[in-house]
Amino acid sequence: MRLIFHEAFNDSSYSEDVYDNAAVPNRLSGVMEVLRNEGHYSVEEPSPATRADLLTGHSEAHVAAVEAKPALFAMASLAVGASILAADLAIQGEPTFACVRPPGHHASRSSSWGHCSFNNLALALIRLRDVGLIRSAFVVDFDLHTGDGTVDVLRSWPDAHVFNPWGDTPADYLRILEERLLHAPQVDILAVSAGFDAYLHDLGRKFATDDYFTIGRLLQAYAIRLGHQRRFAVLEGGYYLPDLGKNVLAFCRGFE
Ligand SMILES: [Zn+2]
Repeated sequence: MRLIFHEAFNDSSYSEDVYDNAAVPNRLSGVMEVLRNEGHYSVEEPSPATRADLLTGHSEAHVAAVEAKPALFAMASLAVGASILAADLAIQGEPTFACVRPPGHHASRSSSWGHCSFNNLALALIRLRDVGLIRSAFVVDFDLHTGDGTVDVLRSWPDAHVFNPWGDTPADYLRILEERLLHAPQVDILAVSAGFDAYLHDLGRKFATDDYFTIGRLLQAYAIRLGHQRRFAVLEGGYYLPDLGKNVLAFCRGFE
């Protein structure tokens, strides 16, 4: 399993929004420290996505609005580039996790909210489709919040299926996810919006660290059933920093 990361993601100067939980200093460096200490994950460095890549899923006006904030634009384009690299490696059979910010699943075609600018995951899938590498995809979003932007950007692509599991208790949630995956369609790739804000000590106050292992393992089992095993995940939310790294690691252990 490979990780996609760039040191530039540690630059916390881009955000003008003091309430941007996704941009607090050291959020990602803490995660990467835990993952690097694990030892067996190699790290690949992404390049920024091109403007043409951004325009495959977003309106010119939305791209221009982000572009008006150059530091944010640079960071958000790099996050899309990381997701694209994760998807490219996944197509070659390598499970990947892109450790990025800003997150992307609240970025719609012509607007965004919730600390998101561009839809990292959806743009990577559209690119794979446009170069002829896939025709279908299954997206699972286990962030606390529904990936409304992903639904919007992928709306016009009937063979891109987006699933946001739910459930009041971890047991309910995992059962619903498992059921859905057992009946999920045969697709060319599995893409995962990996948000960790439903954690016990985070906003959602639900999952224990072990539950993230189980989520990763259910997704891995689905990818194996698909035959080709192609899968990648992209970081979304997750704000309880003392445990974010170990939760990401638990997920990766299940997913790899
Ligand atoms: Zn969230």
